[in-house]
Amino acid sequence: MSDSQSLTKHNELTFQLMVDAAPSALILVNKYGKIAYVNTQAESLFMYHRTELIGNDLEMLLPQTAKKKHLGFVNLFFLNPQARVMGEGRELYACKKDGSVFPVEIGLNPIATIDGTLVLAGIIDITERKKASEQLRLVFEAAPTAMIMVNDIGTIQLANKQTQALFGYTQEEIIGQKIELLIPQRYAKQHVDTRNTYLKKPSARIMGEGRELYGLRKDGSEFPIEIGLNPIDTANGKMVSASIIDITNRKKIEEERQKYTHKLETKNKELEQFTYIASHDLQEPVRSIGSLAEILIEDYGDKLDDTGQMSLEFLKNSANRMRDLIKSLLDYSRLGQKNRPENVDVGLLLESVVSDLGQRIKETKASIEIGEMPTMIIYETEVRLLFQNLISNALKFRKPDISPQINIHSKKNKEGYQFTVKDNGIGIEEQFKEKIFVIFQRLHKNEQYEGMGIGLSHCKKIVELHDGKIWAESEYGQGSEFHFTINKHFEIT
Ligand code: ADP
Repeated sequence: MSDSQSLTKHNELTFQLMVDAAPSALILVNKYGKIAYVNTQAESLFMYHRTELIGNDLEMLLPQTAKKKHLGFVNLFFLNPQARVMGEGRELYACKKDGSVFPVEIGLNPIATIDGTLVLAGIIDITERKKASEQLRLVFEAAPTAMIMVNDIGTIQLANKQTQALFGYTQEEIIGQKIELLIPQRYAKQHVDTRNTYLKKPSARIMGEGRELYGLRKDGSEFPIEIGLNPIDTANGKMVSASIIDITNRKKIEEERQKYTHKLETKNKELEQFTYIASHDLQEPVRSIGSLAEILIEDYGDKLDDTGQMSLEFLKNSANRMRDLIKSLLDYSRLGQKNRPENVDVGLLLESVVSDLGQRIKETKASIEIGEMPTMIIYETEVRLLFQNLISNALKFRKPDISPQINIHSKKNKEGYQFTVKDNGIGIEEQFKEKIFVIFQRLHKNEQYEGMGIGLSHCKKIVELHDGKIWAESEYGQGSEFHFTINKHFEIT
């Protein structure tokens, strides 16, 4: 050791003054593990007076469990004295005069003095820091989804139980590994770049929007995931927390929905074509019959006797009715053709249906009660028609002596949503409960209750468009309940 490196008595004093002025606890230790000097912060941290410490074994500041091994570590340090952080990877603890043990972080620095090399240990009490990271760990564990915390070089620092279950790794296997362990090989390389770009400008966001993301399990299998990223400032530096959701089921439902829509589209196209051709070919002659009947009534009516006139009138009415029937058949085939499912607040939709029926509601003195309704991704125009038909029927098939009371409610079940329109009208006989959904089937004469017998078949087709079922329940003479379901594919996920 050269003179210039050694501390003289004068600069030893300067050194002591500097050490005392330092903001953290410092302890100077010799190669025998004896305390050579302590600063004021060390005195207050360990609750000893410096006279009680200087000249004694450093072990007095260690908890019982660490005492035995400590001298070995001191010897190791003096074999190759270098400035470094002590016990990397291990948890370090120190002990106060009152016996209380607390977690510490220790920095070691070799100092050349006239008495040889000493080690200057800087000690930081990390109780608060540990508490904060323990709290963070608890929050992670309590999260309902898989959560991972990664540091700025992509090393996994925390992974909760859900993560272990999702990826098939144990805590020990996953902590300390690079995050790319959980990514299929073909994306892993690119992920390092994406990770670095993210770290330059970290923000809370969904990862890889628009791209399909996959996770890699320990057994090599892949699964689709959605990831939410959040930068967090921790005592151990800047980290990124990622919450991971397995979207296998969601994707399956989406695929089923797409397959179903495709199947339906093909079927509808065929039917549309058939009905278009049929109605085109039918509408023209029917229109001609109607017009000719009218001409005959106007121009030749007075040349015919009563029976002849009545027959012509009957011919005209039949032709008009047939025209209406063909039109409603065409409407039926077009259901779900032009539109696409969209976000619909069923409650608002019902309010507007009821407002459209305002005049009839007033005339019949009906009261309508609407329960809580969901928002779903459905065919708006069609569902509007569905409710319109059911409510119109409830108003139409009322009992003559009491004003209609209509109750509309919904409930969620495992298939999706079930809706009910209940009335206190004439009811339906048991044997007709299915027949009423067949196109052009009616239970009453037109003189009794007007109609074409197509409303409920429209309803059935609309419900089937939503992969659901429709049925009626009734106590004849007491009222009816029409129930229908909309499949969970149409729920907002
Ligand atoms: P329409 O109303 O034109 O007759 P629908 O297809 O809507 O055609 O109904 C078919 C039949 O079902 C009706 O004729 C009626 O007999 C019966 N029906 C429908 N809704 C009700 C109801 N709310 N109460 C009693 N009967 C009903």
